[in-house]
Amino acid sequence: MSNVFYQEKFQDRHNGPRAEEAQEMLSYLGVQSLDQLIEQAVPSQIRLKKSLALPKALSEKAYLAKIQRIADKNKVFKSYIGQGYYDVTVPAVIQRNVLENPGWYTQYTPYQAEIAQGRLQALLNFQTAISDLTGLEIANASLLDEATAAAEAMFMLYSARKNKTANVFLVTPNIYPQTLDVLQTRAVPFGVEIRVADLEEANLTEDIFAALIQYPAADGTITDYAAFSEAAHDKNITICAIADLMSVALLTPPGEWGADVVVGNSQRFGVPMGFGGPHAAFFATKEAYKRNIPGRIIGVTSDASGNYALRMALQTREQHIRRDKASSNICTAQALLAIMASFYAVYHGPQGIKDIATRINDLTKLLDKALQELGYDQINETYFDTLRIAVDDHVGALKAEALNNELNFFYHDGIVGISLDETTTFEDIETIVKVFAKIKGKSWNDVELRSMVDQLGSSIPAEAVRTSPYLTHPIFNSYHSESEMLRYIKSLEAKDLSLCHSMIPLGSCTMKLNATTEMLPLTWAHFGGLHPFAPVDQTSGYMQLINELNDWLSEITGFAKMSFQPNSGAQGEYAGLMVIRAYHESRGEEHRNVCLIPASAHGTNPASASMAGLKVVVVKCDAYGNIDVADLRAKAEEHAANLNSLMVTYPSTHGVFEESIIEICEIIHQNGGQVYMDGANMNAQVGLTSPGFIGADVCHLNLHKTFCIPHGGGGPGMGPIGVAAHLVPFLPNHEVVEISGEQGISAVSAAPFGSASILTISYAYIAMMGGEGLTDATKTAILNANYIKARLESYYPVLYAGANGRCAHEMILDCRAFKSVGIEVGDIAKRLMDYGFHAPTVSFPVAGTLMVEPTESESKAELDRFCDALIAIRSEIAAVEAGEIDQKDNVLKHAPHTAEIVSADEWNRPYTRQIAAYPLPYLKVNKFWPSVGRVNDSQGDRTLICSCPSIEEYAEA
Ligand SMILES: *Cc1c(COP(=O)(O)O)cnc(C)c1O
Repeated sequence: MSNVFYQEKFQDRHNGPRAEEAQEMLSYLGVQSLDQLIEQAVPSQIRLKKSLALPKALSEKAYLAKIQRIADKNKVFKSYIGQGYYDVTVPAVIQRNVLENPGWYTQYTPYQAEIAQGRLQALLNFQTAISDLTGLEIANASLLDEATAAAEAMFMLYSARKNKTANVFLVTPNIYPQTLDVLQTRAVPFGVEIRVADLEEANLTEDIFAALIQYPAADGTITDYAAFSEAAHDKNITICAIADLMSVALLTPPGEWGADVVVGNSQRFGVPMGFGGPHAAFFATKEAYKRNIPGRIIGVTSDASGNYALRMALQTREQHIRRDKASSNICTAQALLAIMASFYAVYHGPQGIKDIATRINDLTKLLDKALQELGYDQINETYFDTLRIAVDDHVGALKAEALNNELNFFYHDGIVGISLDETTTFEDIETIVKVFAKIKGKSWNDVELRSMVDQLGSSIPAEAVRTSPYLTHPIFNSYHSESEMLRYIKSLEAKDLSLCHSMIPLGSCTMKLNATTEMLPLTWAHFGGLHPFAPVDQTSGYMQLINELNDWLSEITGFAKMSFQPNSGAQGEYAGLMVIRAYHESRGEEHRNVCLIPASAHGTNPASASMAGLKVVVVKCDAYGNIDVADLRAKAEEHAANLNSLMVTYPSTHGVFEESIIEICEIIHQNGGQVYMDGANMNAQVGLTSPGFIGADVCHLNLHKTFCIPHGGGGPGMGPIGVAAHLVPFLPNHEVVEISGEQGISAVSAAPFGSASILTISYAYIAMMGGEGLTDATKTAILNANYIKARLESYYPVLYAGANGRCAHEMILDCRAFKSVGIEVGDIAKRLMDYGFHAPTVSFPVAGTLMVEPTESESKAELDRFCDALIAIRSEIAAVEAGEIDQKDNVLKHAPHTAEIVSADEWNRPYTRQIAAYPLPYLKVNKFWPSVGRVNDSQGDRTLICSCPSIEEYAEA
């Protein structure tokens, strides 16, 4: 046979094991074929009867040609729309070395601090920049978007309110509509009333617990709120401000005029608009609230040798501990984008940021002057970057002329809004002025505009001019040449373990390949440069992509329709539960408020349920890790009158395909409830079964797990939800861009399609895999997991398995027995670093265990290397068990070992330096050094330091 029609398959690059390796692994498992293994692992009653109906798989090259054609359908006009989204110049050194660099984007959330010091430092820099710019003491390491950050602030201030009878959140009418939309959604379940009214002292009534200000306001104007804040505080009313991060380089920061919380979007700091995202929202507040802050906070501590070290503080896995009492359900946030924004601040420094902000403001003033000169009525007396021009009945003509020149303005009630940004130039102002001149039938002479440049007054009221310094720390004042910046980025990257180094076998998190071809289009201008509210005829490429992805994911999940609004799995949970709530309400059953959740559920499940106003009732699991069906039935029947839903993860978080899942869904339906499936484990379902087929009503997908969006060190993510036909009418709508029907719930995110630009990644994955490829990937994931299980089960007991002794795509290794000789699961996690590996998931869903998920992307060689490491560690534990080595002074307790420790002149450990650093031969060829020793967790929580400490401060500590 000739090779004329030979075609490379992407699938063969995505999956790890070569055909012959897969065969060896199957033999090791004692089965004849992959299909035989799948029959043993997946119960027959849930197996799909037909294969996925998806387009034929494309080669990488054919895919790039296709996505180029789609990109060309998006029109990138110059955006002056504003409304929270601005064009930016991404410094190329950041684009290539962070955003386009797998060393950064394939990192996991920094739970294992010793091999994550680089991103922890970058995130600490983010917190420092935010705290400086907003004028508040403490900031977190990002939230999902500006609107949800405002909602988180509302909830935090509500929980911490002094007057417990107050339930009104006073909101300025001068706020972006998408923010108000999300606030409305989030307020309903916990009984908060949103009152939209002017921010006047007279409106500060007793029933208000907090007030929300937008600064500058949605219309672009700037007001001094010092007196208002003081009056509010006198009445025990707290203040939340939504601030524009670029403007506060010139304006008095809200923290200085009395805001208790400041939230906003950091998109303007060098992150493309991306048709809505992803970008990092920020959240800053006073010290007094430090234990109430939602999301992740990075804090300073020290390592075992007393060296400077960073870690995630306080809220680490907060929902896992507090569950339905958690202050927020936020899990995946926007780490990579926060890191980009922080590097932007590092690269430009305080003077650079000020110069950029001042240019924006000066160009806006210039435009203002020119338009007035032309006889236009520019309404805003104060502004940073936004003008409003009353054009009355000329709107149509003006809009047409603007479009002719490929300019997008914001049109509202006969007023044209123009918001300038970092990319606006003098020439752009000329173009805009010519458009306005033409409408008036006037000619325009460029010389005139030039002559105005030096006659600009001030557009910022004197009392709102910023006088305090910011970004004063040396980190923001040292890396302003590209060489210095490049080396700084690389020095941080080098401290972090990512998929560039080794497998990251994190159970539940599905750290699979993020293929380069999947990532390439992300930074194309035709995806990055679109405003989420751009006119629809400019976004048809995006709409094609979203529609096709909707069809494909509907086919994969067995559902009728998807919503792409949720920006994370947890937000998908919340959105899905709100859809269920609307469904019950439509049937006159709004009293249904009981949500059943198995004890083994991920912590975000109960946290989301409580945010949706539901009462959580826990269902037991049996000794095999399955839902206790008798207990489920009893609780469903007991609560039948008020049963709202069941939240269930499938395969279970114990890594097992429960046989009884269909019956479980039926029990819930019989008792009037809906089934919410947590789709985090979808990687074990695709092509073999589906949530719709099993009988669920709603399911979220973590596109950043199953569908190849990289984890980015803790975000971005996308958590679209799929629903059965009866729930379609209730899918989320959006105040600015209509995307659902009359019965649709209000928005759950600021942007209509969430972080739309990263949908290109999942789209690429499905397009290049095709139905068969996706199904093979699922089977391979199950093969890889069962291979690890078989190799390790005589060393570590494996908790739970299906009826035939097979696991699904992940398994739990029990490490609790080692406690009797003082070895904790955490010691194993740290010792794995010496072997060059990131630990599996620690202590979820069972305390004292490791949950391993290899994914389909790992080769047999890598799986073997990982198993060899764990087996070697087991023998190190055995030496402790045998009493050969001290329980406290051993290689596990001292792990991880840094180069500094191993090469120190002094060595007084009861094991050799070789054993410490090179316990297996492969390490001699390829060694990853942890940059710090074991970090001190409790010290970090006792004394919280959440911004970059000064050198002196650090020396004292
Ligand atoms: C990851 C995960 C979630 C939360 O998803 P995020 O995208 O991080 O918000 C929920 N449930 C399970 C089982 C998960 O593994």
